[in-house]
Amino acid sequence: MVVLVTPDATHNGPPAYLSKNSMSSKSSLNVAEARQILFDALSPVTGWEAVPIRRALDRILFNDVVAPFDVPAHTNSAMDGYAVRIGDLSATDETRLSIVGTAFAGNAFSGLVGAGQAVRVMTGAVLPHGADTVVVQECVRVEDNAVFIPAGQEPGQNVRHAGEDLARGKPALAAGKRLGPADIGLLASLGIGEVMVRRCLRVAFFSTGDEIASLNRPLRPGEVYDSNRYTLYGILTRLGVDLIDMGVVRDDPAALEQALKEASEQADVILTSGGVSVGDADYVRELTARLGDVSFWKLNIKPGRPLAFGRIGKAWLFGLPGNPVAVMVTFYQIAADALLKMMGCDPLPDRVLFKVPCVSGIDKSPARREFPRGVLFSDDGVWKVQLAGSQGSGVLSSMSRANCFIVLPENGSAVAEGDLVDVQPFDGLI
Ligand code: AMP
Ligand code: MG
Repeated sequence: MVVLVTPDATHNGPPAYLSKNSMSSKSSLNVAEARQILFDALSPVTGWEAVPIRRALDRILFNDVVAPFDVPAHTNSAMDGYAVRIGDLSATDETRLSIVGTAFAGNAFSGLVGAGQAVRVMTGAVLPHGADTVVVQECVRVEDNAVFIPAGQEPGQNVRHAGEDLARGKPALAAGKRLGPADIGLLASLGIGEVMVRRCLRVAFFSTGDEIASLNRPLRPGEVYDSNRYTLYGILTRLGVDLIDMGVVRDDPAALEQALKEASEQADVILTSGGVSVGDADYVRELTARLGDVSFWKLNIKPGRPLAFGRIGKAWLFGLPGNPVAVMVTFYQIAADALLKMMGCDPLPDRVLFKVPCVSGIDKSPARREFPRGVLFSDDGVWKVQLAGSQGSGVLSSMSRANCFIVLPENGSAVAEGDLVDVQPFDGLI
């Protein structure tokens, strides 16, 4: 396996939106503005590696793949039936043709189909010379060595042409594609067993908070178990990045500084959760501003208001809020596409958004985008959405129960029972 990692482009000082005097930088943003700032700031990692195609699943293709030959390589039959010459067939009556041979997939008929002749063909068999059309076996009558073809056949029916799937010399997959199951199958159909993919993004992540307990000990009074590191682990694993799990860091400036420095030396991206609001123990702000360039945003969203974005050394920092639902919402709505861009994914996937009736009313504050958690369900064949229980930003069970976000736009007002709302499903096919 070849692994080549080239250093990423050097940066020319902090961009305008990151300032040492972070509190005075742009502070209140909507989702679109925040995403735009990220996209302008971030660029893809530049290294690549060659991997066997099975390991290329969910990786980002580094270069265009050009088809080395036609797929299918030969014009062949799409059905089990009889290969015929359309010119032989009567437009109005049944036509009798004599069967002169059989073509199997992988075992072609070597002769020529002449006037008044047919060849029995199986699906995938190379179309015999002379024939141009395949008649499915279900609609013919066979007697001795003759086949009777009813009128009404279409020229060229049931024939798959060479190169109709992938044409030789044409791009089969474009650089930037995140490879799915169909893509690795397609590479296999081209006989390609190894591809160049962008190197994995390295993401260091940790939770912050004196009250946050790791799972290996009983809870003390006032503590909560660290769930954020597990939800982030799940999301990041699915995203296909290299994880550097740095555990829980206490609300202690020295410990946080140490963790941030360590993370910035190893990772392309640092993700933290908690400590970015304005409480007395929220040190992530202060420290990142001192160690690098960072700005703190009050996003016009619910849940998930505070978010830090900046840079420490070569690593980009996303300081996510602490509340378990807010972490997931800000990650999915703001950070996920930013990370995909750094991974080299281009174009970014369109997020599915469609309208369904909501079966209950939902309160909404003006001028902010809200992401209540919903359950899409089929009501006698009509898809509808209902709220997934209590909507507090710490209520992780609402995320667990939900299968979609309900997206209430900035300029929208409260939802009444039966109103159409936008929904964004969590999952597609597996
Ligand atoms: P913070 O943003 O640090 O003020 O945290 C906001 C809320 O989220 C607090 O109630 C925290 O206890 C909670 N919280 C922060 N980090 C975590 C975590 N890793 N797991 C579960 N809850 C957390
Ligand atoms: Mg905290």
